[in-house]
Amino acid sequence: MPDTRHALVLLSGGQDSATCLAWALAHFARVETVGFDYGQRHHVELDCRERLRTGMQAMPWPGTLGADHLLHVDVLRELGSSAMIDEVAITLQADGLPNTFVPGRNLLFFTLAAALAYRRGLTVLVGGMSETDYSGYPDCRDNTLKALQVALSLGVDRPLVVETPLMWRDKAATWALAHALGGDALVELIRRDSHTCYLGQRGVLHDWGYGCGQCPACELRARGWRAWAQGNASV
Ligand code: ZN
Repeated sequence: MPDTRHALVLLSGGQDSATCLAWALAHFARVETVGFDYGQRHHVELDCRERLRTGMQAMPWPGTLGADHLLHVDVLRELGSSAMIDEVAITLQADGLPNTFVPGRNLLFFTLAAALAYRRGLTVLVGGMSETDYSGYPDCRDNTLKALQVALSLGVDRPLVVETPLMWRDKAATWALAHALGGDALVELIRRDSHTCYLGQRGVLHDWGYGCGQCPACELRARGWRAWAQGNASV
């Protein structure tokens, strides 16, 4: 029985959100996407969004891919500095979190996504957050997002469901999920046209995709790819 609900995918252009878009197209009747321009230090990820959408549009999903929305949230930059926004070295802060953490980012993104979903008649919000293989960002945790689902549903007086298909999957299992959803063609699309590197480098195409190969995001992606390629991952 196909799920007739309409979904909104938070599509950043990275591996995780790209996999979530495929997952949503496999599950819901209609899917729209939203991206956020918050002055991140490079625009490579945002440039990948359209290529991912075009690539997935050509694949035989049950769901229809609808409109894309790009929202500008410059306010995050006004709130303060982060290695995700500014050209500074990636280090651990005194509280143990990496300085790539942008406090409030996912809370704000989901709030804006809920407002957009309300306007567009969409009832499922899909995000690629995970607390399995993550950097410790507290707004990626399952409880944060479950609490947010309740707050957002009450706030718009409409049942909104927050879906996070990668919450308990590591990066290797995320590649395995992409393969289960769309086979080699989807894996290749995500490998080439998604972007995860914190430094925005796209000079060299590695077996796991583009990136500097050194930053924490590249290391995580490369390690996950290798584990999956060696057959050490299940959906
Ligand atoms: Zn990198």
